[in-house]
Amino acid sequence: MRALTLVADRKLELVEVPSPPAPGPGEVQIRVKAVALNHLDVWGFRGMAFAKRKLPLVVGAEAAGEIAAVGENVTSFKPGDPVVMCGGLTCGACKACREGRDNLCENVKGIMGFHVDGFARELLNLSARLVIPVPPGVNLRDAACAPIAFSTVEHMLFDNAKLQPGETILVHAGGSGIGTVAIKMAKAIGCTVITTVGDDAKAEQAKALGADYVINYRSERFEHQVRKLTAKKGVDVVFEHVGAETFNGSLLCLKRGGRLVTCGATSGPSTTLNLMQLFQQQYKIFGSFGASMRNIRDGLAKMAGGLLPVIDTEVALDDLGAGLARLESRRVFGKVIVRF
Ligand SMILES: [Zn+2]
Repeated sequence: MRALTLVADRKLELVEVPSPPAPGPGEVQIRVKAVALNHLDVWGFRGMAFAKRKLPLVVGAEAAGEIAAVGENVTSFKPGDPVVMCGGLTCGACKACREGRDNLCENVKGIMGFHVDGFARELLNLSARLVIPVPPGVNLRDAACAPIAFSTVEHMLFDNAKLQPGETILVHAGGSGIGTVAIKMAKAIGCTVITTVGDDAKAEQAKALGADYVINYRSERFEHQVRKLTAKKGVDVVFEHVGAETFNGSLLCLKRGGRLVTCGATSGPSTTLNLMQLFQQQYKIFGSFGASMRNIRDGLAKMAGGLLPVIDTEVALDDLGAGLARLESRRVFGKVIVRF
């Protein structure tokens, strides 16, 4: 079978590898149909000094497929069932896992596609515990965006920032995979959405998704525009993932007691913080990483209800590198999907 492997930093190879054995007890075998790309893949592709991993590594951290076979004691799935996979290898037994906060698992064995072999291969075996059924009416291309993109945004907006209907939110990089999802999820509960984009074409696309106001951050200072748009009050929530370039401006956009939630630092990981501003304005800052299995289920349920991901491009397995380059260039609007 085919597998797309990272053999060195920035070097991908499509190789033939042996198919997996029959699934063991408690496992299912999955035929992968679609892999969705994330910035996590870009970090992995570039190589990260602190990521503990061995090359070659099968890439792909977010995917959907069909059950090909089930092992002993698996009653929840049958061959042909459409599924998504949770790529965080949690233990399922620690306190955090038992409480449904599995992204805080104390014994996590890594993230598939980043630390250990991922989903960009035709067949793989996985513990049935980490597999989630796709509800009727949701196609596998869209479902592939549930395990990271949809669930990360669910976790950020609703578990961490506790976004409420009627609130105002600033969503950074409204054309990114998670930015497009955040706009749609916030609009779906009746929030006012301000978003930033890097060019005028994306501004039109973001408006078409439902954003109330779109700021081109290359031609205007977003923090000034946000204060203007909110009559100097500021927003209730900022959805951050840009990092160094925007973080301090994002804090300036918050109203007193406002919440900033962040899951990324694509423009750089370090910044300085005015602590006086932090406590006097009573800001709440949430770091958010990954999501729980519940968030993945909730994301899929939203898809079944019609809240679908925005797909930028679909590429073939051997073009995954081109998809990553597109993601890295920030030209994307929505998700890049790799089809098998
Ligand atoms: Zn655990």
